[in-house]
Amino acid sequence: MNTNIQELAAVLASPKNIVIVPHKNPDGDAIGSSLAMYHYLTLLGHNASVIAPNEYPDFLKWMPGNEHILKFDTKRKIAKPLIEKADLIFTLDFNSLDRVEDMKPVLEKSKAVFAMIDHHEQPDDYAKYTYSDPKMGSTCEMIYHFIDSMEHREKINRDIATCIYTGIMTDTGSFRFPSTTSITHRVVADLIDKGAENADIHNAVYDTNGLSRLHLLGCALKNLVLLKEYNTVYITLNRKELEQFGFRKGDTEGFVNYGLSLKDVKFSVIFIEDTQEDFIKISLRSVGNFSVNALAREHFNGGGHINAAGGRSDLPMEETIEKFKTLLADYKEELTV
Ligand code: 5GP
Ligand code: MN
Repeated sequence: MNTNIQELAAVLASPKNIVIVPHKNPDGDAIGSSLAMYHYLTLLGHNASVIAPNEYPDFLKWMPGNEHILKFDTKRKIAKPLIEKADLIFTLDFNSLDRVEDMKPVLEKSKAVFAMIDHHEQPDDYAKYTYSDPKMGSTCEMIYHFIDSMEHREKINRDIATCIYTGIMTDTGSFRFPSTTSITHRVVADLIDKGAENADIHNAVYDTNGLSRLHLLGCALKNLVLLKEYNTVYITLNRKELEQFGFRKGDTEGFVNYGLSLKDVKFSVIFIEDTQEDFIKISLRSVGNFSVNALAREHFNGGGHINAAGGRSDLPMEETIEKFKTLLADYKEELTV
């Protein structure tokens, strides 16, 4: 942890107005880290608020403190003044203000001091305090180390432990991605000791599907295409299919990983038509050294991590797939070694 984080401890020594912001379309790590910080900062006597750019999936709404999250897109009138009067803004689980989209201009206007805690590659430098570590499997694990570095490990209560556990679990694929280290397991062991109910948390996130979501998965798997010559898989879901299976936010989470379960496959991508706007959301996953962060940055206006990234395409589905197939040729060597 770098020294300016220690300076942040001095800032946090007296009560402040603090806003905590996760990225747009927040996932388990973004919501988990935001709520863990919310509980921690509230415990320290700060006036903390969590403002998410928009809606997130139902399978995250059981988390302690969920009722305190304001969604900027629907609660702008309440959220904007909070940002304006904030002394300090924590941005969690993202590396560029572009990731909050419509909230960006409001954040940029704020006179608050910014603090970033994040594990994505190539962080921007908008924050006075930056704790960035792309080797970390989750922002939630970094929140644990942050609290530890403040010498407040004993303050981690059941609520904080539960939120941190959730984000570590979701971002490490339930502790199986290579980013999971022995330290991750030590952190998780301590969180269980502090009250995180591991089996209940897993159940709440992964075993609360509606039937239509499983049918949507069936549709996605039927649409899966294996490009054997590139050890690559892609999946498409168009608007009609999403509507047919009553798509709700979060329903497609994890679908892209099924591609990687095929023998020898190194690269898996899912293209999902947005149900409201004319663009295609892309999720990319890889195993080994093939950097989906680089590919998403260069070709799909996105980014992320080496093995997990996201992006978008403003072309229609067919043209997007054509573009994707064409550029695969440039990566053939990397994908077939
Ligand atoms: P997912 O595919 O699950 O949406 O995201 C995979 C990883 O890439 C996550 O760490 C997420 O934060 C990041 N990511 C997703 N979409 C984008 C994007 O449009 N731009 C950037 N820079 N990162 C993204
Ligand atoms: Mn994350």
